[in-house]
Amino acid sequence: MKPQNEKSAIIERADFQALLDALIDRGYRVVGPTLSEGAIVYDELTAASDLPIGWTDEQEAGFYRIKKRDDSSLFGYTVGPHSWKKFLHPPVLRLWQARREGNGFQIIAEQEEPQKFAFIGVRSCELHAIAIQDKVFTGGNYVDPYYKSHRDRLFIVAINCGEAGNTCFCVSMNTGPKASFGFDLALTEILEDGRHYFVVEAGTEAGREVLQEIEHRTASDEEIEAAERRVENAATQMGRNMDTSGIKELLYRNHENPRWTEVASRCLTCANCTLVCPTCFCSTVEDTTDLTGDHAERWRKWDSCFTMDFSYIHGGSVRSSSKSRYRQWMTHKLASWIDQFDSSGCVGCGRCITWCPVGIDITEEVRAIRESENE
Ligand code: SF4
Ligand code: SF4
Repeated sequence: MKPQNEKSAIIERADFQALLDALIDRGYRVVGPTLSEGAIVYDELTAASDLPIGWTDEQEAGFYRIKKRDDSSLFGYTVGPHSWKKFLHPPVLRLWQARREGNGFQIIAEQEEPQKFAFIGVRSCELHAIAIQDKVFTGGNYVDPYYKSHRDRLFIVAINCGEAGNTCFCVSMNTGPKASFGFDLALTEILEDGRHYFVVEAGTEAGREVLQEIEHRTASDEEIEAAERRVENAATQMGRNMDTSGIKELLYRNHENPRWTEVASRCLTCANCTLVCPTCFCSTVEDTTDLTGDHAERWRKWDSCFTMDFSYIHGGSVRSSSKSRYRQWMTHKLASWIDQFDSSGCVGCGRCITWCPVGIDITEEVRAIRESENE
């Protein structure tokens, strides 16, 4: 029997609402999974009953459905179409406004107080995705003020996966299924032997303080082992896998592989894969003026390397073919991202596979390119 982990505590299901209440009382805007229009998405939560209780999801390439479970699990599903980047790096953001004043104009900066978000139900792959976006938005010479101000105030409640989805491959990417860093509290949900409870680990002082406000007790060895079994179960259920050995060199070597033409014949360049991806960060800037010309605004919007405009430079797009755009996306994710940020740009969440309308599967594309070298 393993020694009892002093950091682990137990919160009973009946006390779960107290966790949300403690965060709301501390001024957090609590967001987490909820059901909307046939999908599990991230939105504001005010009560535990807002969670998709007793629901799960079925995912395959180009396929997503929710269905009822035969238990009342709070977190019995994997990741949906939303990722947490929609809160830290919003799809649409006004950067500033300008007002005409005489012959000139005055810039009106955005004054909004940053929101204190508490994310509930963050998966391990998503913690890795947030860490990747931290590097992108705060790790270089140019820090994104919106991202940083929200990130600095963020409280994260992670949930360890007890089941994996058909499009998950976090084990291949070393990003899950157990949350190992980047959380204030990490929960493992257990429904066993007629009991329903959470094994809780605090990762920060803020997490410990919130835990102190909630009814809890020290976890027993058996309860900790039950939590470990849940995560081990998820690790054995990965629906996909990707051989990442030498992947950067593999893709750089295969810039002219005929597979790019084959995948381009299926790809609609719809950009779904980049919009659902928790690490994709590209944006564009648009200026608008009102009809009087007295008022102008500058907006930042998510962009995608799959659009023609994305690589438009004085008179034409650099990547005018679907082939060059798909190759750019996948080679950036899995190869040049490593040169740029010292990590893969993929955390194995599987969203791009599920939400691709024609079911293009990044793991299959890597496999095809790898196997073509042996032909
Ligand atoms: S790979 Fe799929 S999701 Fe991505 S742009 Fe092509 S068709 Fe759309
Ligand atoms: S590339 Fe696909 S599997 Fe990888 S992180 Fe992005 S959406 Fe998830």
